[in-house]
Amino acid sequence: MQTKFIFITGGVVSGLGKGIAGASIGTLLESRGLTVSLMKLDPYINLDAGTMNPFQHGEVFVTEDGAETDLDLGHYERYTNAKLNRKHNCTTGQIYDAVLRKERAGEYLGSTVQVVPHVIDEIKAKILEGSDAVDVAIVEIGGTVGDIESLPFLEAIRQCRHDIGRENTLFIHLTLIVYMENGDMKTKPTQHSVGKLREIGIQPDILICRTKGDLPQKIKKKIALFTNVEVEAVINAPDVKSVYQVPLTFNKEGLDEQIAEYLKMWTGKPKLQGWADMVDRFQNPSDEVTIAFVGKYVDLRDSYESLNEALVHGGIANRLRVNLNYVNSEDLSEKEVQKQLKKAHGILVAPGFGVRGAEGKVRAVQYARCEKVPFFGICLGLQMAVIEYARNVAGIPTANSGEFRPNHPDNVIDIMPEQEGQEGTGGTMRLGAYPATLKPGTRIAEVYQEDKISERHRHRYEVMNEFVPRLEASGLIISGRHPERDLVETIELPDHPWFLACQFHPELQSKPMKPHPLFASFIRAAYQYKQSFKSKSSKYE
Ligand code: GLN
Repeated sequence: MQTKFIFITGGVVSGLGKGIAGASIGTLLESRGLTVSLMKLDPYINLDAGTMNPFQHGEVFVTEDGAETDLDLGHYERYTNAKLNRKHNCTTGQIYDAVLRKERAGEYLGSTVQVVPHVIDEIKAKILEGSDAVDVAIVEIGGTVGDIESLPFLEAIRQCRHDIGRENTLFIHLTLIVYMENGDMKTKPTQHSVGKLREIGIQPDILICRTKGDLPQKIKKKIALFTNVEVEAVINAPDVKSVYQVPLTFNKEGLDEQIAEYLKMWTGKPKLQGWADMVDRFQNPSDEVTIAFVGKYVDLRDSYESLNEALVHGGIANRLRVNLNYVNSEDLSEKEVQKQLKKAHGILVAPGFGVRGAEGKVRAVQYARCEKVPFFGICLGLQMAVIEYARNVAGIPTANSGEFRPNHPDNVIDIMPEQEGQEGTGGTMRLGAYPATLKPGTRIAEVYQEDKISERHRHRYEVMNEFVPRLEASGLIISGRHPERDLVETIELPDHPWFLACQFHPELQSKPMKPHPLFASFIRAAYQYKQSFKSKSSKYE
């Protein structure tokens, strides 16, 4: 069967939530029994998101096959069953890289290599490659209509309709309705943005209009008239409390019905009860817990998108609201630790890079270990936990990581010998899914209910095995290892309510409909701690 394509563009301003919109369309189509794939086309020149600063571009999402991608792929995987890989995020850099390689290989047979047709053809080929022979391939074009750099992508999707036909392609444009202070709603920017699209030959079929509140029918009619879109295809997307509500609001507005009609797909009614129940659990929690989230990029929510979401999922699993108390590890001086962490029912030390704030993280681990507060360390968080244990329990006071202090005999965390001398920073880390074998009888094996797992990685440094006997002799449990290369994957402490750290990123596989067991268990432990904390007379207050 011919795969149908939905192309999503955005206009007026950036940051309207095209990623969530695409993901939510995925949820709706799956709920109608269709298979979907999702893909993001990014107009920037970087080959991938791996070398971009999280402050600027948000989290780098790692796929199963180890691609470092845009955070929208995280939304796609959380909202759907699509299994994404490096084919599903394509940048201008990758397109030019492919074209230039072909040029050097002589594949263009002496012709002048040009944006039209060669670059455009390459984009079209990538779109087809990413479609995975599913029922509907959802393709999001990054950036905003009118940007110089997104033009080749827009030309490519324009040609796609020409190549594969009207009933196999759908153009959805996401735009903003501007609110004036006096309460007036302005549609002009939307008209201009659609006008810009039409200039390049794309007439959108459906408009998704972001608004603060409800869009009156009168305004919908006006938008329809001036943009040449059916009034039923003007979909209102009001601000919602939780992003997981979006598929439900889209459905109420009839978006999936419209899509099915335009693409001539006769499917059953959507089955959304499970999703609605999940949103209900999220929005009507029975109680709450507070987690101290210790990291470096805490000022920008996007930098830890998947981790934030996974903690929310842990809350959904326990019908609890999870309040995240962001703590910048640079502020965690000796004096500050207790003040900043004492209200937390659980402490999470987040992934990260670089020496800044590292000592604050070590102090946060020490506090969690000594005060017996549930502790979860992820990636750098595991490395900090091993350093803390080595220094304060295993008698290696100068223990550290090679990332912060290269070439020292007491680096309990260091680069693997085979990685030394590796050049460049792009794509050179240990990336993607690797298996781990869990030790029977450990907490982590109990949490997973299995002893063979597979989780995604993004790191360069490792626990040095030569120190493991000393760490183990002083009580640290190495609870998970990579089976072949014998790398430390997870650690835990026995005499503690919940002290666990992993070298991998479990947050990347957590979904609201399928919360990751580690996050569900951590939040449960934090809640138990809260209960016991309440019953004890508080030692700090
Ligand atoms: N900076 C550490 C490393 O490269 C940890 C990376 C991370 O937390 N993702 O190994």
